[in-house]
Amino acid sequence: MSRWTDPEAWEALLSAEGCPICRDGGPTSVIAELEASWVVMGEAALPLPGTCALFFRRHAVELHELTAEEGAAFMRDAQRLSRALKSASGAVKMNYEVHGNTIPHLHMHFFPRYPGDPFENAPINPRLAPADDRTVAEHVEIRRRLIAALAPGAGEFPAA
Ligand SMILES: [Zn+2]
Repeated sequence: MSRWTDPEAWEALLSAEGCPICRDGGPTSVIAELEASWVVMGEAALPLPGTCALFFRRHAVELHELTAEEGAAFMRDAQRLSRALKSASGAVKMNYEVHGNTIPHLHMHFFPRYPGDPFENAPINPRLAPADDRTVAEHVEIRRRLIAALAPGAGEFPAA
């Protein structure tokens, strides 16, 4: 049964008290803390090396729940991560997704796209292409570069 067809369970997840991210004090696999959010990147790779996510630090479900200042801070973090990840991965294009259908704590997924990737000219569907040893090795290297680029004191990129 989908969580959406169980209104009580879904309502609980929408609250900070019932949110697994907030209950645990934050997500796992945090590699950097930015102005208003955490950068989350595991070591297991999805079929697109460099895949990661940006989690807003306070509990919020929808983008429109952020104050104007929070929204601006979240966008500054998204731009900083996007710029660093594009550089670290050599992506030809960055893709972004905001869902929250299973964990309704505001977060944005980042997917570097590559020529010849399994979803070229199409949306991403990780179920269609499992990661292999090569993509895992590439992911680990991109993760190392991204941690260095986002570390406190690392050179800030000039605003565009
Ligand atoms: Zn939460």
